[in-house]
Amino acid sequence: MPYLGGRELAQVYRRAHEERFALIANNFAEPNVLLGLLAAYEQARSDLLVQVSVGAAKFAGGGRPLAGLRALVRYVQAVAADAKIGVFVNLDHVTPDQSDGFIRPALAEGLCSSVMVDASALPFADNVRATRAVVELAQPYGVLVEGELGVIRGAEDEIVSDAAFYTDPEQALQFVAETEVDLLAVSVGTEHGVSAGRELSLRVDLARAISDRLRAGRRPRPLVLHGASGLSSSQVGALVAAGVCKVNKDTTYQYVYARTAAEFFADHRAEILPPRGVAFDPITFDAGGSPWRPNKKLFDPRVVGKEIQEAICSVATDMIAQVGSGGRSLYA
Ligand SMILES: [Zn+2]
Repeated sequence: MPYLGGRELAQVYRRAHEERFALIANNFAEPNVLLGLLAAYEQARSDLLVQVSVGAAKFAGGGRPLAGLRALVRYVQAVAADAKIGVFVNLDHVTPDQSDGFIRPALAEGLCSSVMVDASALPFADNVRATRAVVELAQPYGVLVEGELGVIRGAEDEIVSDAAFYTDPEQALQFVAETEVDLLAVSVGTEHGVSAGRELSLRVDLARAISDRLRAGRRPRPLVLHGASGLSSSQVGALVAAGVCKVNKDTTYQYVYARTAAEFFADHRAEILPPRGVAFDPITFDAGGSPWRPNKKLFDPRVVGKEIQEAICSVATDMIAQVGSGGRSLYA
């Protein structure tokens, strides 16, 4: 099934919300992570949601975010063209000031299935106003909108906040009613970035209370968890059971990527780096009389790339099991 839009993604979330499973929202910025993810999700017969932050788009576009987004999404569309699962793209953590330069063209060019607008650093009324404006932009395209309420402690892509606040259930209902967002990111005690090793006061009860309040207010919505790297399998399972249907994952892939590359280059150091005292010229291949030559079977970036793809596939498979989306593709 090729890359799909917001109306199909809404059906996936409806099923996830009813049957209590979640989609991992997988951040990526280059092909190795994407290809590892695609392999894992096809194998598991789970629909795949990838997401691109403005920072990732900027990276992929050599400093030009919109060009980078086009390149990344077209790559997704091309490699997913004959996949047997649904493949969706979310714009991750777009701030309201990026609405004209990033969200509008992305909507007009069909580059996303959903948009996450982050106005959570603003006071409540301003957050409502800014989020509502994006909902109005996205609705004609059938693109879903995710809003965020409550500042999650730690560093997000280009957004930094010191204080930890928990989302209030009553305010969550008011926010959903006034903005008409399709998904709501809540703050229940996770930290963005690497949270492992820190003391987390994770409030599964609060996630449940928010979900119950939205349902009682006749505005049931899938909840979203940001900063989920570092949580245990049982913590994720409990949050999904409480109504979380989208779990953002970025840091885990970054670490697995770096670790796999670091191990590979450490293992093959002597066949890639010249010995001490030997100066090897990468243009002329002159080693100043030394017989040492680097090993092309190891320094070709596709070799380490393949290992990275396999490592991403393996960790993605484990995380699909945590959220229960395996075997539940609407399109498999
Ligand atoms: Zn967030």
